[in-house]
Amino acid sequence: MRQERRKLCDDYEVEAILGQGGFSVVRKGISKSDGRNTQVAIKTLKRFGYSPPGMPKTGFPTWKQVSISDALLTNEILVMRKLVEDVSPHPNVIHLHDVYEDQSGVHLVLELCSGGELFDRIVAHKRYCEVEAAVVVRQIAQGLAALHRASIVHRDLKPENCLFLNGSDSSPLKIMDFGLSSVEDFTDPVVGLFGSIDYVSPEALSQVGVSPASDMWSLGVILYILLSGYPPFHARSNRDKQKMILAGDFSFDELTWKTISSSAKQLISSLLAVDPHRRPTAQEVLQHPWVIGDSAKQELMDSEVVSRLQSFNARRKFRVAAMASVMSSRVFLRTKKLRSLLGSHDLTPEELENLRVNFKQICAEGDNATLSEFEQVL
Ligand code: ATP
Repeated sequence: MRQERRKLCDDYEVEAILGQGGFSVVRKGISKSDGRNTQVAIKTLKRFGYSPPGMPKTGFPTWKQVSISDALLTNEILVMRKLVEDVSPHPNVIHLHDVYEDQSGVHLVLELCSGGELFDRIVAHKRYCEVEAAVVVRQIAQGLAALHRASIVHRDLKPENCLFLNGSDSSPLKIMDFGLSSVEDFTDPVVGLFGSIDYVSPEALSQVGVSPASDMWSLGVILYILLSGYPPFHARSNRDKQKMILAGDFSFDELTWKTISSSAKQLISSLLAVDPHRRPTAQEVLQHPWVIGDSAKQELMDSEVVSRLQSFNARRKFRVAAMASVMSSRVFLRTKKLRSLLGSHDLTPEELENLRVNFKQICAEGDNATLSEFEQVL
């Protein structure tokens, strides 16, 4: 699949930016060669780290051999290749068409998802019902079942990594972004350092025994938010949130949850079991009466659920944008936490102060939680 001599621009017209991640930029592309002008998404994983000469061509290099961006890049490609071999095409997993490589980095040619992110689509409705939420859960569980059958653990399942293929009401939902994923006996999992811990399982937080069950925990968090509009583990600081996650300390408060079916609550409780062995597998979730639709309510949920989800979603987007802009700064790559992983870089007090000032500007809208998250990284 990866043919290094071909050029991306020979085969695709590269168009507008669709989005940006910490280490990537995604652009729309149009195929020149298939005669059908197929639209695709081109995800360019920027290479801005140093890889020492003689790095092994096979196997996964260790942290000491590569920069963080190269590690994420290599991991994503290895996982995407495994996906092509063992999973694709699956209606609920993003499809990789091709891979190109040049000096700027690696370009993944992906199926274009033009239907938007999961929560964006939901908040566009005034109200929705449990049956619609069950359709979402069913699609994610189908994608996870396929990944887990291929021994791939996603490890970063969250609503922004679930995109609709197109704008139609019956559009499939696709799981994407395999930058932090792991393949059993194949890749070393890359340690997830950034972003929200809202969806992270207790075992992933303590970095022991991450398994397919860890993705099921994340699905439980997504389902909780879908039915309430707020996350199950909510605290002022990340440290307190971590404690709550590790203890599985969440509840169904009476006011919000009294009208939600007991079957949905039972499913959430089983997915948010601290012991991963007690969580249902993706295949088991697909047999669950609520997911099948038998016990999911058809009545519209309280409109408050959508308005809470709206503000949760807006806040999340702001946080992602702030983190992305900080992460894309080279200086950020030299923060203390990364230094401890990567070794020898030094950050002067002036550079540190500059970084703080920059970040405070980014947080000018007053998102103190983001600021305190950032301070913890520092
Ligand atoms: P990171 O790479 O740091 O984990 P990320 O997951 O936000 O961050 P990407 O996977 O690079 O980054 O995606 C960036 C944005 O590009 C996404 O938020 C999404 O809006 C858009 N995007 C990614 N893949 C596609 C796709 N296949 N089709 C349409 N848009 C996409």
